[in-house]
Amino acid sequence: MHEVAIVEDMFRIIMEVAKKEQLSRIDKVHFRIGKMMQVVPDLFRFAFDSAKEDTIAKDAELEIEYVPVKMQCRGCGHEFLVGDQSFYCPKCESSDLDMIQGKELLVQSIEGE
Ligand SMILES: [Zn+2]
Repeated sequence: MHEVAIVEDMFRIIMEVAKKEQLSRIDKVHFRIGKMMQVVPDLFRFAFDSAKEDTIAKDAELEIEYVPVKMQCRGCGHEFLVGDQSFYCPKCESSDLDMIQGKELLVQSIEGE
């Protein structure tokens, strides 16, 4: 259950931002999570809810935006989004690919007062 570790890290960032912005209450936290990170939404939400207890974010809403996995072919340079299929370039069928998107794990924005 790596969601707990992720949320703990994220909370450190959230609290730093809140301090800098002099927030006394956090209403909403918006995350961007790459599909490649294999974060389970329910577990993430659960970890978030337990981490926020006794903090200024205790009533904060959680919003998660999932970022699709995007690959670039090293052979022909083609960029494409990866669904559930195996990782092959749809143009030249090469499997020599670079992941250019999908490993995000970011606090996109924090709302509060
Ligand atoms: Zn290709």
